[in-house]
Amino acid sequence: MSTIALITGANKGIGFEVARQLGSTGITVLIGARDNGRSDAAVAALKKEGIDARPVEIDVSNEASVMAAAKKISEDFGRVDILVNNAGIMTEMAAGTRPKDLSLETLKQTFDTNVFGAFAVIKHFVPLLKKSRSPRIINVSSTLGSLTAMSDRGHPMHGVNFAAYNASKTALNALTVALSKDLAAERISVNSICPGWVKTDDGESAPRDVTQGAGVIVTLATSGNPPTGTFVDENGSVAW
Ligand code: NAP
Repeated sequence: MSTIALITGANKGIGFEVARQLGSTGITVLIGARDNGRSDAAVAALKKEGIDARPVEIDVSNEASVMAAAKKISEDFGRVDILVNNAGIMTEMAAGTRPKDLSLETLKQTFDTNVFGAFAVIKHFVPLLKKSRSPRIINVSSTLGSLTAMSDRGHPMHGVNFAAYNASKTALNALTVALSKDLAAERISVNSICPGWVKTDDGESAPRDVTQGAGVIVTLATSGNPPTGTFVDENGSVAW
């Protein structure tokens, strides 16, 4: 049976491109989307390229949906080898929100998807990952979640001061560290990555395209001996 990869938020953007690149190596890619209506076009496009792509309904901010997806994948495939926690939201760029004006609602919504959602997926998929011979979790974070970058006046990201998004990625990184230590006993590697600033709905005026953004995720997903507990981009380590 081929390697099984679940990518959340794979109906578009970086997640879709990760699915395309992994799928083109022969990996079976499970296209996570909030509902199957959102993934239909993505699955059809990947199948046209000869990729074994299957739709998976999974709204990461809804634990019942995450549990239902884990049950269905367990029945259909019995395991997951690669989990890419990619689903994420960033609403402050569009709204131009300054931290002092941030609504509690926006902060909660951002954490619901980027932090609690990622955690829910890990929690309910660990039993399936444990059945893999080389299980790995890749959390799609951002240099914007680096406390080092945020607090360094000389860093190019210093001025990108989005309290909800940045804090959500910092929290996601903390989960990466905690879970990498705990899941080492289960041989499951857990890493955070930054794809760089990529042209998608989340970064419309960005310099990089999704092909470049997906690269670091695909490298970790397919590496023979992945590290664990790291935060990396395409150039190597990112400061926490
Ligand atoms: P995108 O094009 O907006 O894609 C985000 C994906 O996440 C979409 O498929 C979206 O589904 C999905 N999603 C959002 N909330 C969800 C939920 N509750 N349940 C399931 N899926 C959900 O953004 P992107 O740029 O590709 O971002 C992908 C990841 O990269 C995010 O974690 C983002 O923070 C991170 N990142 C992006 C950049 C960048 O420059 N683009 C830089 C650093 C990190 P819908 O279509 O249903 O909304």
